[in-house]
Amino acid sequence: MNSEKTKEQCIAEMNARRERRIAKRKQQERLIEEGVLCGFSLTYHGACAQVAVPHTGRKDARCDEHKDIMCTNCGNRASHECDYIGMLVCGFPLCKDCSHPHRKRVK
Ligand SMILES: [Zn+2]
Ligand SMILES: [Zn+2]
Ligand SMILES: [Zn+2]
Repeated sequence: MNSEKTKEQCIAEMNARRERRIAKRKQQERLIEEGVLCGFSLTYHGACAQVAVPHTGRKDARCDEHKDIMCTNCGNRASHECDYIGMLVCGFPLCKDCSHPHRKRVK
């Protein structure tokens, strides 16, 4: 018996996997919009998407882990981690209105 997959089967499986991933992401985005899931954006990871603390509600809902994280620049609630990559990923929390300066690497 030949159990090897044909190329077509492999491609079909790959496409199905990709579609599932896209569908999952879309659903996740909707739940974040609805304030069900944490929308805090993590470096390397995208949205946190853990179940948000109820009540924070709407748009910038946050999970327990991220609900008290403040922007390092202005002190408002942070929405994401700085994804600047120097020697290491910066990772400082920032709100959506802020960026913070990074020293340009001099070669
Ligand atoms: Zn979170
Ligand atoms: Zn800020
Ligand atoms: Zn930074």
